[in-house]
Amino acid sequence: MRRLTFVATLLLLALPGCVSTAPSLGTAAADLPSTVSIDSILAKPTLDPDVELEALSRSRSAPSLLRRSYLELYCRRPQAAIDAAAEVLYGLRKPSANEEAFARYLRAEAYTQMGKPEQARFDLERVQQLTLDAELQRRVRALTPPAGPAPVVVASIPIESRSAWSPAPENRANLEPMGQPRRVTIHHSAMYFRDTRPAACAAQIQRIQKEHMGNRDYGDIGYHFLIDPAGRIWQGRDMRYQGAHASGINNRQNIGICVLGNFLRGRGGQGPNPAQLGSMRMLVRQLMQQYGFGPDEVHCHSDFKATECPGPLMESAVAQMVHDLQRGEAGGRVAAAVAGH
Ligand SMILES: [Zn+2]
Repeated sequence: MRRLTFVATLLLLALPGCVSTAPSLGTAAADLPSTVSIDSILAKPTLDPDVELEALSRSRSAPSLLRRSYLELYCRRPQAAIDAAAEVLYGLRKPSANEEAFARYLRAEAYTQMGKPEQARFDLERVQQLTLDAELQRRVRALTPPAGPAPVVVASIPIESRSAWSPAPENRANLEPMGQPRRVTIHHSAMYFRDTRPAACAAQIQRIQKEHMGNRDYGDIGYHFLIDPAGRIWQGRDMRYQGAHASGINNRQNIGICVLGNFLRGRGGQGPNPAQLGSMRMLVRQLMQQYGFGPDEVHCHSDFKATECPGPLMESAVAQMVHDLQRGEAGGRVAAAVAGH
């Protein structure tokens, strides 16, 4: 008993993400689930999750494995949750329809936690076929991404996937579907930043997400794309969700692009570099083509409210880009007209 408590304490020290309550192995052993239901599998742990996991570790029954999967998810260890669910799905004993439904639901939650909602989709569809449980159905609907435009822009532009910066899981309760995008808005991150190393850029994006979710209560990082000082484009918020970057209703159907750096004049300011500006143009042009809007729908944050974002050094670059896009578009129209006659 003492040794187990010691092991559990060690685990807790190693995994500070898990909420700690007074360990009580006796209760955990008595609470081994014998059924598969929302109440037995998905109930919030009343004692230390790692202690409950320890008590469940010797059982290979479907209810125990499913409960373990849930507890691993609760402790934000999605891979361990997937492993436990897979033991139910592919173990020696064929699972019942109900057991399979819970295993797939838990695996879908784990993929979502890992920032891989696409991988969750198949499991979610299967759960809907397998279960009649209204609460489980409701949870599956909440987890299923809304239908909408493809989350990633056409493959002709290299874009660092969302998982490349190891985002915290989005909070779907605070996200709304975007629908068809019809405009784009440029921002700066307002932090001096010249580092071009991928790991440093990923860390900077994580920092922005943390600020947006932690201090502003956004459902995710506010921007759909971020451009680092090396000109790499990173996927931020999933394009199926409305952004949080231009204040209230201005966010509707509005793609948010944040260029990393502080483009104010004077102390702490810097100019956007050519690599960033080149990528910004490439991305904006691609988005315009893909969603069918014109250069008049390319904005700076300062078009919507009194703000210094994206900074005068960037505003002039955006104005130049819009000018060039208008000329390019007019040129394209003339060419088409000539070709038509
Ligand atoms: Zn802004």
